[in-house]
Amino acid sequence: MKILVVNCGSSSLKYKLFECPKCELLSKGSIEKIGEKNSSVQTHTEGVKLVLEKLIKEKALDSVDEINAVGHRVVHGGEVFHKPHIIDEKVIAEIKKCAKFAPLHNPANLAGIMACKKILHNIRQVAVFDTAFHQTIPDYAYMYALPMKYYKKHGVRRYGFHGTSHSYLADEAARIMDLPLNKLKLITCHLGNGCSITAIDKGKSIDTSMGFTPLEGLIMGTRAGDIDPAVLFYVMEREKLSPEKMDEVMNRKSGLLGISGISNDMREIQAAKAEGDERARLAIDMFTYRIKKYIGAYMMALGGVDAVCFSGGIGENDIKIVNDIKKSVMAVVSDKTKVMVIPTDEELMIAKLTSEIVEGEK
Ligand code: ADP
Repeated sequence: MKILVVNCGSSSLKYKLFECPKCELLSKGSIEKIGEKNSSVQTHTEGVKLVLEKLIKEKALDSVDEINAVGHRVVHGGEVFHKPHIIDEKVIAEIKKCAKFAPLHNPANLAGIMACKKILHNIRQVAVFDTAFHQTIPDYAYMYALPMKYYKKHGVRRYGFHGTSHSYLADEAARIMDLPLNKLKLITCHLGNGCSITAIDKGKSIDTSMGFTPLEGLIMGTRAGDIDPAVLFYVMEREKLSPEKMDEVMNRKSGLLGISGISNDMREIQAAKAEGDERARLAIDMFTYRIKKYIGAYMMALGGVDAVCFSGGIGENDIKIVNDIKKSVMAVVSDKTKVMVIPTDEELMIAKLTSEIVEGEK
């Protein structure tokens, strides 16, 4: 069964074609700058057409009829979606409703869905939500201690993100350890440009560091992560910043970039630290310390830990950071606890979930 996985951003379209149920990768690629001035691709529909032409040209497909289903990454599924869903009119309406929580992402994800619908007509499409894996988090961990009306009226709560990656890492950890997932307590760290950490008990997410938005939790490339909210009001007043400007500071000018003043790229910050740059040293120490704090907290939340897993560009490649955290973990856990680096593959997970759901329908 051939499964096309599509991950649409506002101006990008990433894709991978798999042969499932083994889900072997047949082809992959991306289209950038969709809709930008001077770009030859103006819409996601044109983008999907181009992808299909390319797949035929490189002989990954003989014809588009060979595609059995399309799996889409959808960022926000609110409280409605606890698992992947076959896309129908109802699901499309709900994804539209959830756009209030992810105004940049959900409309782009929908554009990809509509483009495939237009070109591939009645093909099965499946939505896989970044938030769905975290819907098992209990109320005492997902609620914020604000007046209840903000949750009831506006849905203000922890949703969590990177769910597809965390769920993939949990499956992989169980496979590598050769133990059933429902017997394991895991802490998975997705450390890329965006960073999040999840506590997984018996295969279920019980807490995660990203919250109502992907801004909460760990220090990231350009995002601050956890902060005393009073700091925002104080800075906004002193610097005469509007809410929009402050949002931009928190999302785009903070984190590793804000502290180091060098870059949001960990490689550049490590290089600067090696040359004695004090702010680069500080950025790395803060980044690492925040992760250690969360691992400690999640060990308590889980009542122990069988494995701590690292993934994402930093988690998979920055041996210094991973070893530093590993040392702290090993100092407080039993010899049986594993620390593992596992390359994540969200598209592969989407392909697996899509093929399972389509198979299950038969
Ligand atoms: P995204 O979250 O956009 O998918 P990635 O998972 O690719 O991002 O991670 C990007 C981060 O990984 C950047 O901070 C980059 O510096 C870091 N990174 C990539 N390779 C290395 C490396 N060899 N050493 C340290 N950091 C790395």
